[in-house]
This record gives sequence, structure tokens and C-alpha cells, in this order.
Amino acid sequence: MINTDGLIIREKSSGEQNRTVTVLTREYGIIRAYVYGAKKIGSRTGSATQLFAFSELGISEKRGSYIIEAAKPKEVFFNLRNDVNKIALAQYFAELCETLAPEKENTEEYLKLILNSLMLLMNEKRDEKLIKSVFELSILSLGGYMPNIVACDTCGKYEDENMFFDTTNGNIFCESCGHFGMKVPMSVISAVRYIVLSDRQKIFNFSLNESSLEILSQLTEKYTLSMLQRKFRTLDFYHLL
Ligand SMILES: [Zn+2]
Repeated sequence: MINTDGLIIREKSSGEQNRTVTVLTREYGIIRAYVYGAKKIGSRTGSATQLFAFSELGISEKRGSYIIEAAKPKEVFFNLRNDVNKIALAQYFAELCETLAPEKENTEEYLKLILNSLMLLMNEKRDEKLIKSVFELSILSLGGYMPNIVACDTCGKYEDENMFFDTTNGNIFCESCGHFGMKVPMSVISAVRYIVLSDRQKIFNFSLNESSLEILSQLTEKYTLSMLQRKFRTLDFYHLL
């Protein structure tokens, strides 16, 4: 029996009463598990295994299959469900976790990142675009795709009025050396540095004016799609809204 905290990042009905879920756990990475009887009225595991429930879980393993035997909710993020934009963004975050978080390894940093992001989305304490950009850059960094953001990749210059961010390699270039990638103002490069290099407790604690935030948002999304070389159904849906 495994006892761990976990966030349900995907749920699917399985028959009339059961559910299959994907869980981002604290200590054991991504686990795909069955929940028998989750949809029965009065089920004790039901609400604790819904999408975006963060719960204390007791999980058993039988011949490579995982079964959630016990679940107790700690936080359910119900408010997210009232806003279609927020739930769509949360589902994109979940899909990025499924893509990047490992199995059978400690994933506490991934879990902290998505829990903080969902909390900020729910409390509306940060701009949605800022939350999305910080999430994308941070999860990419955790997954081994940290951009090389310290200085111009060619001459080592630290600052320029504008700099070029090469979204296919994650390098930056000064105005004299840059001929490709996205040309962005220094404020955006500083924000990327802040997100990637700050203590993880502080990554959401900055602000940008609206035009710079828009550019940051384009940059982090382009970088994400370029690094992971795939499309995200949840992201396409978010943009449709
Ligand atoms: Zn240079």
C-alpha cells in the first residue's frame, strides 16, 4: 500500500460506477489508477478523486495495476469549475504535467508548482497570462528544458535595449549578434531570468506592463511548443474560448 498526497490531473468514467484517474503524487510521480465505486452515491472516494481534487490517497498495487482504496480531500479547487477559461488553463497545466513529470520518482516540485498555479488562478491574485507563462517556463525547467538566459550566446553581453530569444534552442542574443528568434524588450528577458533563476517560492512575484506581458506570453508558449515538439489539445481549446 502506498500512502501519498496527490492531485487528480485526469479523470474518466469507467463503467457505470467506476473511474480511472491520473494522479500527480508527491513521492511516486505520475500514477494511473482505478477507483472502484467512485460514482456510487455516498462514495467516500468519489469527491476526493474528481478532477483537480488534491487528496490524501491510499493506493494498492496488484500486478502492475494501481487501485485507489482510500481518498480524503485536502483541497478541491471547486471555484475553478465556475470559469471556463480557468478550467481550460488548468487542464493545459495538467496536460503539461502528464507530459513532463516522471513516473516512480519524487515529483514534489511539480506538485507544488501546479498547486500554487491553481491557487493563484482561483484567487485571481495574478494575471492569467502571467500564471500561464510562469507555469510553462517553470515546468520546462523542471523537465530539463531550462533556457540559457544568462547572457548573449555569442558575445556574452548581459543587457541590451532589445534582445533576441531563440525559441528553438532557448538561447538569447544581443542586438548586434541576434538575427533570428523573437525580438523582445529587455523587460521580458528580465522576467524570463526572474522566473527561471529565482527561488521557487518567489517565481510569481513580479509584474510587467500589459504589452510586455503579452510578449512574454507569446514567447513562453512558442518555447514550450518548440521544446516539446507537439500540440496540446487543451491549449488549442483554451485559445478557442
Ligand atoms: Zn552579442
